Amino acid sequence: MSAKIIDGVKHARQLRADLSAQISDFVAQTGHRPKLKVILVGSDPASRLYVSNKARACRDVGIESVTIELSSSVTLPELLEVIDAANEDSTVHGILVQLPLPPHLPVRAVLERISVDKDVDGFHMYNVGGLVVGSTVFSPCTPYGVQKLLEAEQIPIAGQNVVVVGASNIVGKPTALMLMQRDATVCICHAKTRDLAQFTILADILVVAAGRPGLILGPMVKTGAVVIDVGINRLPDGRIVGDVDFDAVRQRASHITPVPGGVGPMTITMLLHNTLVAARALTGKALSS
Ligand code: NAD
Repeated sequence: MSAKIIDGVKHARQLRADLSAQISDFVAQTGHRPKLKVILVGSDPASRLYVSNKARACRDVGIESVTIELSSSVTLPELLEVIDAANEDSTVHGILVQLPLPPHLPVRAVLERISVDKDVDGFHMYNVGGLVVGSTVFSPCTPYGVQKLLEAEQIPIAGQNVVVVGASNIVGKPTALMLMQRDATVCICHAKTRDLAQFTILADILVVAAGRPGLILGPMVKTGAVVIDVGINRLPDGRIVGDVDFDAVRQRASHITPVPGGVGPMTITMLLHNTLVAARALTGKALSS
C-alpha cells in the first residue's frame, strides 16, 4: 500500500479562498475590517518568521494585522499593559501573543490576560475548559487544523481508535479532546509512555506531535492507518522533517501528511478563521448594545 498524501497546502488554499469571500461580505455589511493584533516579545528568528507568515496570510484574505514588537527584557506589568490596551481597543478583534516567551514571563498569567472574546489562539483557560465540555468559542489552531484536514479528506472520526503522541497544552491535549468530542476512542502518549509502539499500532488515526524526528517508524503503524504528522524539526543539514519516518510509514498507511505542506498551512488558516469568528461576534455585540 502507498498512502494518499494529504495536501495541506491545497486544503488551506481552498479554506482561505472561502474565508476571503466571507471577509469581503463582512466588510461590505458592517463597514468593519477584522483586525488581529500580534504581540512579539524578543527577537527569536523562528518566532519572527512565524509572525511575518501570519501577517502575510492575514493580508492575503483581507484581515488587518498589526504586530507590536517588545524587547526581550519587557517586564510582566509592561506586557500586561499592552494586552489590556488591545483588549480595550474596539477595532481589535483578535489578540495573539507569540510563544515561546522569555523565561522571566509567566506564560499562563500572560495568556489569561487576553480577553476571552479576542483569544483567537484558543489558549485562555476559558477556551481550554470549553474544549473539555465541548463548547469552546475558539479552538486552538493546530488541533483545529488537524480536525479540518480529516474532515476535508472525509475520514470518519466517530468510533475510530485515535492515538495522539504528545501531550502538550497547545497541540497534544487539545487534539485529543477535540477528537474525543467527535466520538473517537482516544489514547494520549507522551515522553514517559512505556513501549510507544504497543499503542501506536492500534491507531486507526495516529496524530504525532512530539517534536522528535524519526520517532514513528513503519512497523509502529497499523496497515491502513491515517497518519497526521504535526512535528516540525530542522535537521543539522537544514532539512525540515516531521516526527514520522515518511518513506517507511507511507508504505503502510492509507493517508499521510507530509512535512512541510501538511498540518502547517492549516494552522495559520484556522487562526484566520478564528479572527473572522471573533470579528463577527464582537461586531454583533457592539451593534446590539
Ligand atoms: P512540546 O515540546 O510542548 O510537547 C511535546 C510532547 O511530546 C510532550 O508531551 C512530550 O511528553 C512528548 N514527547 C516527547 N518525546 C516523546 C517520545 N519520545 N515519545 C512520546 N512522546 C514524546 O511540543 P509541542 O509544542 O506540542 O509541539 C510538538 C511538535 O509539533 C513540535 O515539533 C512543534 O514544532 C510542532 N508544531 C507544529 C505546528 C504546526 O503548525 N504544524 C504547530 C505547533 C507545534
